[in-house]
Amino acid sequence: MKFYEMVIGLEVHCQLATKTKLFCGCATDGFGAPANSRVCPVCTGQPGVLPVLNRRAVELAFQAALALDCELAKTSIFARKNYFYPDLPKAYQISQYEEPFSVNGMLDCSLKDGSTKRVRIHRIHLEEDAGKLLHSIGAEELDYSLVDFNRGGTPLIEIVSEPDMRGSEQAYAYLTALKKVLQYVGVSRCDMEKGEMRCDANISVRQAGAEKLGTRAEIKNLNSFKGVRDALEYEFRRQTEIIESGGRIIQETRLWDSAKMATFSMRSKEEAHDYRYFPDPDLVPMDADCAWVGQLKAALPELPAARRSRFISEYRLSSYDAEVLTGDRALADFFDAAAKGLSVEAAKIAANFMNTDLLGKLNATGTPIARSPVPPGNLKALAILIENGTLSSKLGKDVFAKMWETARSPDALVSELGLSQVLDEAQIKAWVDSALAGNARAAEDLKQGKERAIGAIVGAVMKLSKGKANPALVNRLIKEAVTGL
Ligand code: ADP
Ligand code: MG
Ligand code: ZN
Repeated sequence: MKFYEMVIGLEVHCQLATKTKLFCGCATDGFGAPANSRVCPVCTGQPGVLPVLNRRAVELAFQAALALDCELAKTSIFARKNYFYPDLPKAYQISQYEEPFSVNGMLDCSLKDGSTKRVRIHRIHLEEDAGKLLHSIGAEELDYSLVDFNRGGTPLIEIVSEPDMRGSEQAYAYLTALKKVLQYVGVSRCDMEKGEMRCDANISVRQAGAEKLGTRAEIKNLNSFKGVRDALEYEFRRQTEIIESGGRIIQETRLWDSAKMATFSMRSKEEAHDYRYFPDPDLVPMDADCAWVGQLKAALPELPAARRSRFISEYRLSSYDAEVLTGDRALADFFDAAAKGLSVEAAKIAANFMNTDLLGKLNATGTPIARSPVPPGNLKALAILIENGTLSSKLGKDVFAKMWETARSPDALVSELGLSQVLDEAQIKAWVDSALAGNARAAEDLKQGKERAIGAIVGAVMKLSKGKANPALVNRLIKEAVTGL
């Protein structure tokens, strides 16, 4: 029995979060807008026009590279990638080829078992998107095709990894980590449903321990992270079976069909020289000015991995909690706002409420955290009320539910509903006495040393106090009463 391993390299395209296109002033909000309502002579390739590079796109691209530990080239060159397709009016795409703006980066990805996988990044380059072909109008299938150029000329970065991933879980973790970093920095919204993040997966198999890489297939048409994982698993089986039966893998481009859960051959793999790349004579070389790069670097926010470590050291969160709470930037910002200045205990209470109650409600109602009826300040106030004993954790949960319903502060709710925990020993002693009187049997058992009998008495006190008696005091006062201290 031979063992085979999967070798994966990913090419990810991300739409940069600019207002306008890469080489013209057309808006980039054309998704879902009327077809061809975001076009001009430049992005439809009319004669006599010239491209003008969008400075903001370059800034975002540079920030992506800096966040991914890449080297920035002093000079990079735009190149024409020549091919004909109806969604490409110039019959070439402006991209970068021999001299991309950035190379040699890396990204640390957290795996399910808590370990980290480092994936090297081969290069990142800037390019423009193509338009989109339409083969139907609403439900009506057409026997011809239409083209919408709204997307044509939208700025993209293509991030090419080294073939470092060894299984579909690692590819999934890489995509998750990449999306997180790009969203944190504000480089891209990475909304896959809008095509703002797209991935091609290259996969080959080889016998475990072999040095040489096998022949790869490139899989396209992957439109979710789950799709990537499923396609890789399918492709691993397909390639392994071919090799096992003595066949050879051919280098080709394959399409993933998510309904059939299978890949299908699309074309034999094109070679770079087929595209007749050459430097675009309409665009000057792009220089990365040191001072400018310095400013962009200084402006980078705290990245997800750093934030996760800080959550662990500053608030003493478990690594699991820290991972969840840094899952996206809005969530992490919310937690920071709620936990800043709290004691470690109160911060832990706030983290628990976020991970269970708040995320539970947000998910169940499809509410983005930005529109949470419980703002960070109210969560902070609740954590303080629980930590200082005003509320038991049980009452805290009830108050949280009311906070979610009414969007009001816990302090207002507590005083209005008379909910605060009772710490008054005389009052609790009175409840304990009547609980002991009403549960003679349990009281006797307890006196005989049957510790477990205390539960019934505690329950009776809680009932009398409508859940408001402080549990630690209740326990202590019952024991004192029974042992006659
Ligand atoms: P392209 O022809 O698609 O532009 P590249 O040579 O730049 O190709 O490689 C594209 C991607 O394919 C990279 O992410 C790289 O890591 C990956 N790759 C290259 N060779 C292999 C292989 N044998 N197995 C798996 N992935 C590979
Ligand atoms: Mg490719
Ligand atoms: Zn335009």
